[in-house]
Amino acid sequence: MSFNLSEKNDTIIALATPQGVGAIAVIRLSGPEAISLCNSVFKGKNLEKQESHTIHFGTIRDGEKIIDEVLVSLFIAPKSFTKENVVEISTHGSSYIINQVIKLFIRKGARPAKPGEFTQRAFLNGQFDLAQAEAVADLIHSDSEASHQAALNQMRGGFSGEIQQLRNQLIHFASMIELELDFVEEDVEFASRDDLRVLIEKLLRVIEQLIASFDLGNVIKNGVPTVIAGKPNAGKSTLLNALLNEEKAIVSEIAGTTRDFIEDEINIGGVIFRFIDTAGLRETTDTIEAIGVSRTQEKMKTASLILYLFDLTDTDMVEINRDVNKLENLGVPFLKVGNKIDKANPQLINDLKEKHPDSLFISAGQKENLDDLRNRILELVNLDKFRTGNTIVTNIRHYDSLVKTRQSLLDVLNGLDIQITNDFLAMDIRRSLHYLGEITGEITTDDLLANIFSKFCIGK
Ligand code: GDP
Repeated sequence: MSFNLSEKNDTIIALATPQGVGAIAVIRLSGPEAISLCNSVFKGKNLEKQESHTIHFGTIRDGEKIIDEVLVSLFIAPKSFTKENVVEISTHGSSYIINQVIKLFIRKGARPAKPGEFTQRAFLNGQFDLAQAEAVADLIHSDSEASHQAALNQMRGGFSGEIQQLRNQLIHFASMIELELDFVEEDVEFASRDDLRVLIEKLLRVIEQLIASFDLGNVIKNGVPTVIAGKPNAGKSTLLNALLNEEKAIVSEIAGTTRDFIEDEINIGGVIFRFIDTAGLRETTDTIEAIGVSRTQEKMKTASLILYLFDLTDTDMVEINRDVNKLENLGVPFLKVGNKIDKANPQLINDLKEKHPDSLFISAGQKENLDDLRNRILELVNLDKFRTGNTIVTNIRHYDSLVKTRQSLLDVLNGLDIQITNDFLAMDIRRSLHYLGEITGEITTDDLLANIFSKFCIGK
């Protein structure tokens, strides 16, 4: 996607509501001619004489032919999402009407919008920075309370403000040091190296925090990767099904038939858990099963939460201790869940209560104690972290830039330590500024923008 001027001055049009039949559909136009174009096919008031933020009833006509009765909302530049003239036409939601209206406007000189072009224009016209524009995409796609909150927080400013402020302070230092370069003969120091060090260290603390928040951000956006691990027939599929409340995994009487991974998402208390159903914990001699098992090990390492499920009718303490030991070595938080409490051996339960007092006892088949399980799952992922309103990085691009910024800042610190010459110091600072600027969009390339906005749908 390129941004030559003629393209930027086009008036663009797209359906803003989802494709398909609905009660109403909203067609959006943005650009200098949005209002005059609409006026030329609208019968009702003269739209060019109306105030911004007003709604008008009338008909859209192709010559003498009425296409539809509509409501037209006017947003006069710069008081609109794109900061351009914007018209939103609410038509009846038939695909025939939508097509006719859009075709009519294209004949009159509008151009079909590219994916994300409305949001792109909003960004280019300074409505918000790049990190905020990306948050618009995240907000549209958020499907849980936690991801919604993170996106909303970012769209309303989030860490952009924080980063911009620190960047400005760094710019100040960069220019002072560059000024010194002009006065090499005089051997003056405009920028105190001690102050610079203090600022860099402060920046590093903030950047480290943001980098650390990415793990959490990623989880919020994509769900907590959760593995149910246990030997064949422990009841993993039954549990998953019980939690999903629908038959998404094949429950089988035959040991070891659950070989493939079935990923499913479950919303627990506003957080998405991405369940990865697995073939089993143990190495076996069966080849297919063994592949399943080594894949299980891989999956378990990438999980943020493991539900270790064992069959209370068919497991002894030796086995449980061995499995728990393995899991502890893995270092991923896990819950010990005994299944089939409806048929359990009471002695085993007593022993477990003594040796593993943190175990949970459920019946996946009878759907018993599943609420306890859900609560314990939520406790383990420490929900408070999700709700602090703290700044959370959810975007891999921001994460990349933050990591690069950190390295450049460490270079600056190192430069101060070994007292490198000013020109090199200035270069390292400039590089830090560059990566910081990438996050908020002060530094962009066409490729980067095209990549970001192509992830939007048409009409956004
Ligand atoms: P997986 O191999 O770990 O996925 O185990 P499945 O979910 O296929 O379950 C194995 C068998 O245990 C099936 O016959 C289930 O009906 C049965 N089962 C699962 N949960 C329970 C339970 O809570 N109580 C009893 N009695 N049987 C269960």
